[in-house]
Amino acid sequence: MAAASHNWTQKEILAIYNKPLMELLYEAATVHRLHHNPNTVQVSTLLSVKTGGCPEDCGYCPQAARYHTNIEGNDLMSVTQVKAQALRAKASGSSRVCMGAAWRNVKDGAEFDQVLEMVRTINKLDMEVCCTLGMLTKNQAKRLAEAGLYAYNHNLDSSETYYKEVISTRGFEDRLKTIDNVRKTNVTVCSGGIIGMGETEDDRAGMLVALSTLNPQPESVPINALVAVEGTPLEHQKPVSIWEMVRMVATTRIVMPETQVRLSAGRTQMSQEGQALCFFAGANSIFAGDKLLTTPNPDVSEDMELFKLLGLNTQKPFIKKMQPETVEAEDSQFQDLGEKPKWSRPEHTIERNESAKEKAKSLK
Ligand code: SF4
Repeated sequence: MAAASHNWTQKEILAIYNKPLMELLYEAATVHRLHHNPNTVQVSTLLSVKTGGCPEDCGYCPQAARYHTNIEGNDLMSVTQVKAQALRAKASGSSRVCMGAAWRNVKDGAEFDQVLEMVRTINKLDMEVCCTLGMLTKNQAKRLAEAGLYAYNHNLDSSETYYKEVISTRGFEDRLKTIDNVRKTNVTVCSGGIIGMGETEDDRAGMLVALSTLNPQPESVPINALVAVEGTPLEHQKPVSIWEMVRMVATTRIVMPETQVRLSAGRTQMSQEGQALCFFAGANSIFAGDKLLTTPNPDVSEDMELFKLLGLNTQKPFIKKMQPETVEAEDSQFQDLGEKPKWSRPEHTIERNESAKEKAKSLK
């Protein structure tokens, strides 16, 4: 079995992305079969444990406090609430729970301690626990690892070039720094991006270069199609076609053969046939639940019906890596350092997003 290459260039990745579709599908499906069981798909549940009020300006995100969207914010959920939702998710076939908090970065203190307790609790349910909490210091990554975290999600979102068009409150290099901090622990990395934000095919290939040249490559790569939410700067973006999604999934599978490719936001816009093509092209995970953080998602029963139709089985947890051990809070080796990390705010300007909004309107 060929090992993953870490030397992909943008030109090579673009050439794969633009192959005649049947050839691309055949190649991706072949790579998929060499590295994964093609009849198994992981079901993950994404829980928004703290919604809305985020100080960042990600142009696609309804949780950014500066945009006027209709989402209902909530404070950090309790450990009991999270446990109840995780048990429900497990009963309906999920083997992984990803907890998202709309924070710029993790701050040491009572709320982070509560998240650590959520991690311990879900780990003890024998489920993979993933968190997406914003930027993270080395010490915070170690504390999460010690609590039994299986994966940390931190998306690159787009290419380094296009990233600046979508987010101005932190830089691409901040993303890489957090990923690097996670890599210093035994927590696996989940990092992917979004298509349909107005980026070019070069940017899509550029994002895959950035991800595939990480060594090791991320164990998990979510591919999202933008869900254009009213009130965000990207509200007028046209939905991506299923063919773009299939090409993106297939290319991701070829350049990162061992990773779990996650079909993420945007599934409500896809037909059953479209999703089946994505599974054939190498997607081997979906997010379940009626909401993906704040945007709509297919109902679990619809997903299970699709799995039955396609003869797919749900993947058990810890197929790729052993369940991490959980250290209780009182036995922790790590201290709360009360860190105030210095992250960049490159040319911070909201107008950048206003101009993206105008540009998208003119394309309508
Ligand atoms: S994507 Fe995350 S960091 Fe960006 S605005 Fe939304 S919640 Fe905040």
